[in-house]
Amino acid sequence: MTFNDLGLSTELLRAVSEQGYSQPTPIQSQAIPVVLKGGDLLAGAQTGTGKTAGFTLPLLQNLCAAQPGRGKRSVRALVLTPTRELAAQVGESVRAYGKYLPLRSAVIFGGVSIRPQINILHKGIDILVATPGRLLDHVSQKTLDLSQVEILVLDEADRMLDMGFIRDIRKVLALLPEQRQNLLFSATFSNEIKQLADGLLNAPTLIEVARRNTAAETVNQSIHPVDKSRKRALLSHLISTNNWQQVLVFTRTKHGANRLSGQLAKDGISSAAIHGNKSQGARTKALADFKTGAVRVLVATDIAARGLDIEQLPQVVNFELPNVSEDYVHRIGRTGRAGREGQAVSLVSNDEQKLLKDIEKLLKRKLPKTTVKGFEPDSIKTAESLQVKSSHPAGKKPRRTRNHECAKSAGNRSEQRNRRYANK
Ligand code: AMP
Repeated sequence: MTFNDLGLSTELLRAVSEQGYSQPTPIQSQAIPVVLKGGDLLAGAQTGTGKTAGFTLPLLQNLCAAQPGRGKRSVRALVLTPTRELAAQVGESVRAYGKYLPLRSAVIFGGVSIRPQINILHKGIDILVATPGRLLDHVSQKTLDLSQVEILVLDEADRMLDMGFIRDIRKVLALLPEQRQNLLFSATFSNEIKQLADGLLNAPTLIEVARRNTAAETVNQSIHPVDKSRKRALLSHLISTNNWQQVLVFTRTKHGANRLSGQLAKDGISSAAIHGNKSQGARTKALADFKTGAVRVLVATDIAARGLDIEQLPQVVNFELPNVSEDYVHRIGRTGRAGREGQAVSLVSNDEQKLLKDIEKLLKRKLPKTTVKGFEPDSIKTAESLQVKSSHPAGKKPRRTRNHECAKSAGNRSEQRNRRYANK
């Protein structure tokens, strides 16, 4: 199937071909005809499947097909997203795909000044992409009218519920006209999502593609066992020897992200950290620098990385394994997008074996392990030296000391402390 077969207008086809897409992804070939017909949609699709174009393209076409008469523009399509980053990325897609259409769009989210947003809304826009909190701020300041919305999209609805937005969503729904088209995208179908969908959607078409745990299959995954204290050196070594130019690195904590980013800079590797304590401006700049190649390594926490969309990201590194196995799948989903090959490497220290086991259980397979020469963990070195020792004359014991164990358990304790206080 090609994009031409989907019934999209020439303006949209032109924009799509400029993006370099030759074939629709499965979610696109299934969702686009349904949305073009005006039906409601319940789609199980995670980030990386091409879902954004799956709703944006037909949404743009529907809006164009039924242009109201002259007069001030009003918001006719509303896309709600859980995070600012996702809102910005969806906004970018709307602009890119709609570049040959006479429609105006805007993105609004919190963490930045509200004034410029008020000015944009005042001028009149057709498509609004927003996070729920700031959207309601505008409604309460009467700078936004949602009474003319024809199409509502809830993107990453499961994340919105995870992040506690259900009450905000319900408030927004109450502000919309009853007659409208509803599209709900979610990576998972929990009972809460089903409940939300039941109350929101009208005889929806159900589409489900590439379930969360199978999307990981286009990603080449491997494990490097290493001592915790040598992870940073190993990371620098891997980046330099493999000449990786664009690497997304995950740490468990914000503090860890900052520290690692600083250390990499000392090794002469340009890097930026992105996490919840950074201002929106700093996050946007870090992401932009990473996309243009001005910064080679982006160090991120799980929450900050959610919804990050970076074209053809080739390399993800788990500097630390996540506490929640599902986050591993999310993390590596940043690479190997839309069928492209990607590589995910995890640096795993001894104290992370349990986390690794949990991840392997979720993936239902063992991940291949390779030690990097010069970075073998002490446990392996000790085993080797014990073997050598056994053929040596008695009296020369290997230097495996109690102190060493203490250092390890101290590491474990600080690790546990970090985990407890980690506010990702
Ligand atoms: P999404 O799931 O919407 O976040 O999209 C994931 C990535 O796939 C984005 O980087 C898109 O630019 C890219 N993409 C979307 N549709 C296609 C397509 N038909 N062919 C190739 N890449 C695509």
